[in-house]
Amino acid sequence: MGYVVIIGGGASGMMAAVAAASAGAKVTIVEHKDRVGKKLLSTGNGKCNFTNASQSADCYHSDNKGFAWKIVCRFDEKAVCDFFRELGVYPKERNGCYYPHSAQASSVLDVLRMELERLHVTILTGQECRGILSRKGKFHIELNDRELICDKVILAAGSKAAAVTGSDGSGYILAKKLGHHLIPVLPALVQLKCAESFYKSISGVRINAKVSLFTEETLLASDQGEVQLTAYGISGIPTFQVSRYAAKALYAGKKVTARLDFAPEMSFDELLSFFIQRAQTRPQKKAEEFLTGMFPKKLNDLWIRLCDIERSKEAGSLTKRELVKLTAMIKEFSTHVTSTNSFEQAQVCCGGIDTREVNPLTLESRLVPGMYFAGEILDVDGPCGGYNLQWAWSSGHVAGREAANASYQSIKTRTGAQ
Ligand SMILES: Cc1cc2nc3c(=O)[nH]c(=O)nc-3n(C[C@H](O)[C@H](O)[C@H](O)COP(=O)(O)OP(=O)(O)OC[C@H]3O[C@@H](n4cnc5c(N)ncnc54)[C@H](O)[C@@H]3O)c2cc1C
Repeated sequence: MGYVVIIGGGASGMMAAVAAASAGAKVTIVEHKDRVGKKLLSTGNGKCNFTNASQSADCYHSDNKGFAWKIVCRFDEKAVCDFFRELGVYPKERNGCYYPHSAQASSVLDVLRMELERLHVTILTGQECRGILSRKGKFHIELNDRELICDKVILAAGSKAAAVTGSDGSGYILAKKLGHHLIPVLPALVQLKCAESFYKSISGVRINAKVSLFTEETLLASDQGEVQLTAYGISGIPTFQVSRYAAKALYAGKKVTARLDFAPEMSFDELLSFFIQRAQTRPQKKAEEFLTGMFPKKLNDLWIRLCDIERSKEAGSLTKRELVKLTAMIKEFSTHVTSTNSFEQAQVCCGGIDTREVNPLTLESRLVPGMYFAGEILDVDGPCGGYNLQWAWSSGHVAGREAANASYQSIKTRTGAQ
């Protein structure tokens, strides 16, 4: 029986352990926190959006295009749902997103832990992996107070996002010591900080809007949904979805602008005609009351101010120029993005181990035979909606199975068994 050690007891590490143990390997998970699966508990606002019904190669970003999709196809969303159903989690779908029927992330973690126990996987918590040495066909795993010697190792130590859950970037250091290279690791699925001083005055507003991200006049990405305005800039799912592009452009030294459309259901001309008519219907209304009933008051006040319109001016005397300016303010609200929020606030990272150094079929390192990768440590990230966990499950499953099969093969070769 081959012996596989997995560094990291997160989603990908636990899945790798189940796959390797199911394939007959002896398995140990090394986890430096006091328990496994801490990050899993905070996923999906505590409900765990564990995969998505809508899948395509475009859902998985990497500098090495197409790499992740090959792995996802080998253990896809249907396989993930079947897997969890068999373990006892009944998948419930909402707008394509899958959650456990219990609506509790803890139940996903619980069934994984029960399965690890059933498969006799050893879990060493409170043990930091400090070094990995490859010597004479074996791996020596240096922990706090002991050394493990194994046939294969899977590095599933996560990224640098939300370090409080355990993923503190130490996995990158371990891989780099073995010769691997990193695509710059940056916060993704994260809030964006903006330069303008007015954000404090609109903090707390939640509004449906389309967020489009530009460098110069080049559109990088856009998304629509509930945007949250904060004291420092913009947040909410559409902001998260475009944030990786902002992080990469800012890292490259480019100027980044976000353009917000606060009336995405109307064209510019439709909104302008609507305003012209509205001004005629109640001409005595003050400018400060003109948008009441359409948009949140904090935004109305800001827009009137930024358009240099007197608050007390009557709607009937607003000029066409002022109404065009107001329409542009609402449809093309431009804000300068200065940075992303920190790794601590990010849900994931973009960047990671360069996947060109990893076999796209087995997830085995091309530089260190016998070492495999799984999860977010690799340069793969997805949008909100269950894609990052899908990647953790798919990569964990493939790495676990391949490591177990390979360790069995290498033992057969060493002992000359048929
Ligand atoms: C708030 C939040 C909400 C999220 N919601 C969702 C969601 O709903 N759907 C979705 O798809 N994705 C979501 N994600 C992203 C998703 O949780 C991650 O992509 C996924 O958990 C990554 O799994 P992983 O196994 O690669 O890494 P992790 O889950 O981070 O696991 C890595 C593990 O390795 C351990 N470790 C690290 N270094 C060492 C070391 N040197 N020695 C020993 N142990 C080590 C860590 O303690 C950790 O337990 C969310 C993330 C956050 C932060």
